[in-house]
Amino acid sequence: MFELTFASGEIVCCEAGKSVFDAAKEGGIVFGREVIAARLNGKVTELTHVIDCDAEVTLLTFAGGIGKGGEILPDHGGADVFRHTTSHILAEAIKRLYPDAKLAIGPAIENGFYYDIDCETSVTPEILSAIEGEMKKIVRENAKLERFELPREEAISYMKERNEPYKVELIEDLPADAVISFYRQGDFVDLCAGPHLFSTGAVKAFKLTSSTGAYWRGDSKRKMLQRIYGTSFPTKEELNAYLAAQEEALKRDHNKLGRELEYFTTVDCIGQGLPVLLPKGTRVVQLLQRWVEDTEQAKGCLLTKTPLMAKRDLYKISGHWDHYLDGMFVLGDPYDETKECFALRPMTCPFQYQVYLNKKRSYRDLPMRLTETSTLFRNEDSGEMHGLIRVRQFTISEGHYILRPDQLEEEFKGCLELAKYMLDTVGLLEDCTFRFSQWDPANPNNKYEGTKEQWEEAQATMGKILDHLGVKYTIGIDEAAFYGPKLDIQYKNVFGKEDTLVTIQIDMLLAKKFGMEYTDSDNTQKTPYIIHRTSLGCYERTLAYMIEKYAGAMPMWLSPTQVTVIPVSEAFDDYAYEVLGKLKAAGIRADVSTGSDTFKYRIRQAQLEKVPYMLIVGGNEAESASVSVRSRKEGENLGSMKLTDFLAMAEEEIRTKKR
Ligand SMILES: [Zn+2]
Ligand SMILES: [Zn+2]
Repeated sequence: MFELTFASGEIVCCEAGKSVFDAAKEGGIVFGREVIAARLNGKVTELTHVIDCDAEVTLLTFAGGIGKGGEILPDHGGADVFRHTTSHILAEAIKRLYPDAKLAIGPAIENGFYYDIDCETSVTPEILSAIEGEMKKIVRENAKLERFELPREEAISYMKERNEPYKVELIEDLPADAVISFYRQGDFVDLCAGPHLFSTGAVKAFKLTSSTGAYWRGDSKRKMLQRIYGTSFPTKEELNAYLAAQEEALKRDHNKLGRELEYFTTVDCIGQGLPVLLPKGTRVVQLLQRWVEDTEQAKGCLLTKTPLMAKRDLYKISGHWDHYLDGMFVLGDPYDETKECFALRPMTCPFQYQVYLNKKRSYRDLPMRLTETSTLFRNEDSGEMHGLIRVRQFTISEGHYILRPDQLEEEFKGCLELAKYMLDTVGLLEDCTFRFSQWDPANPNNKYEGTKEQWEEAQATMGKILDHLGVKYTIGIDEAAFYGPKLDIQYKNVFGKEDTLVTIQIDMLLAKKFGMEYTDSDNTQKTPYIIHRTSLGCYERTLAYMIEKYAGAMPMWLSPTQVTVIPVSEAFDDYAYEVLGKLKAAGIRADVSTGSDTFKYRIRQAQLEKVPYMLIVGGNEAESASVSVRSRKEGENLGSMKLTDFLAMAEEEIRTKKR
C-alpha cells in the first residue's frame, strides 16, 4: 500500500498498480474534466501514471493546482501539459500537409509552445492558417495519446524508417539506461517523454502566432530550422482575452513605441545591448537624474564621481575577478600578469570604498551615505538583449552606505523608503513586487564570497529587518549578490517578463577585504557594514517601464515637450510666438507648430507625439490674451482660458509631479 497526500487535504491509501486517477476517485476525491494532470513529488505526470511510492500529489488544472477547499495554487504544470500536447497536434498537422518535413523538438514555453521543423516549404502566414485548419480536424478526431516504449536500437531504426534524423540524434544522445518512450495519436507517432493530455479533443482553442528561424540545438554551426510558435487554452474566451492582451502589450512595448516616439534607437555597428538615447530620451533621463540626485542629497547622501574603469588589482580585492570575470569587459589579456590589464566597471562598490578610505574615520562619521550616478558595463549574453531593459551599458543611482552595525536597520529602512518614494512618484510602485534574494547553499564555493556562517548571519539579519518593516516578499534562491543577500524590487514588462528595478543589499564581507575601519567610541578599531542600494535604479530600465506604463504619454513633468502652441492659421503666428515666449519664461518646455501643414494635421501630429497640452490660438484668443486648451487625452477639450490661468495650472501640475 502507498500513501498519497493530496494538496487538497485528503490522505488516500492505494494498492500498487493503481493510477493517480483511480486512486483519487477511489479515495473519494471529487473532480471534473478540468483536472488534466498531476504533480507527484514535484514532478508533473499524467493521470494514468501508475503509483509506485508514497507521494505528495497535487491535481493540476490548466489554471493551477487544486489546494484545500478548491483553492487554485499557482502551478504552470497543467498549462504546460496542455500546450505541449498542442505541439503534438501541430506536428501531426505538419506531417499530414508536408510528409517530407522533419520534426525536431516541440516544448511548452511561457504562454504557449513551439515546434521546430526542417521543411522545404517556408512557413508563411497563409501556411500557418492552413496548418491551423488541419489541427482543427485532429482535435475533432479526438484521438487518444498512447504511450509505448522501445529498446534503443529499435527506437533508432523506427525513427530512421520514418525519416526523422533529428529524433535519431536525440535518441543517440540519451544516456544508455534511459527509457525511450513514444506517443501515438491516431497514425502519428512522436518520440517524447511526456506527459500529455489524455486525448487531442481537449484542446478547444489554439492559435499559431508566428514563425522564425532557429538553429538546431541553438548551435549556429548547425542547420537553421523553422520554429512555429503558438498558444492554446481550454476555451475560446480565454484565447481571445489572451490575444487581445497581447495586442495591447504590443502597442505599449517600449522597444517599438520608444523607437517610434524617438526616445532611443540601436545601431548594428555600435552593438547589441548598447542603445543610443535620442534627444527626447536623453531629456527624460536628465530630468529623472537631476531629481534623483537632488532628492538623495536632501536625504544626507554625498555625491561622488569615480572612474569608469580600473586595473585588475582593484577587482582582485573586491572579488569581482574571482566571481564576476565573465560578466566584465576586460581591456587586455586577463591572464597575462606581466602586462597591465584594465576592466570597465560592472559595479561602483570598490571605487566608492576609496572615498571612505581617503582618510581615517570615526564612529561619528557614520553612517556615511555615498551615492553616484554611475554608468556600468556588463557583458551579458547577446541573446538576452531587449530594448532598454536588457542592456550592456546602463546608468544607475548607485549608493553605498557605510555604517555601524547598530545603524543597519534604520539605514535599511531609509533606503527602502527612498526607493518606494521614487518608484511611487514615477508611478511604478503599484506594480512592483519584492524578492528576498538569497545565496544557494548547494553552490557556495565558486559563486559566493564568505562562509556559511557569515551568509546565515547576513540573511537572518535581513530577514528580521524585512519582517520588522512588514515587507511582503517572495524568496529567490541563488539570486544573491556574491557578497550578500538582497531585497530586489521587481517589475514586469508588458509581456510579463520580470527584471530587477531597484535593489538593497546587506554586505558584512567587503569592508574587511578593503581594510575599511572606524574608531569606535571606546577607541578600538572596528569594521563597518555596508548597504549597497539603488534608489530609482537603472535609468534606461525605468524609462522603458514608464513608456510601457503610460503608453508613451509621460507625466507632464517628464514630457520632453510639455506644450505645443498651434495657431489656427498663419495670421496668428505672431501671437503664437508671444505665447511661446511666456511659456518658456515660466520654465515650460514648449514649441510652436506652424508651417504649411493643415491645422488638423498639426493637431494630429502633437497628439501622436503625446504632448500633454495643445494651446490653440486664433483671433479670439489673441484679443483676450487667452488660449484654447486641449489635453492629449483623446478629445479632451478644456476650453478657453486666460494664458495666466493656464500657466498657473501647468506649473502646479509640473511642481506636484502629477501623473
Ligand atoms: Zn510530448
Ligand atoms: Zn555595490
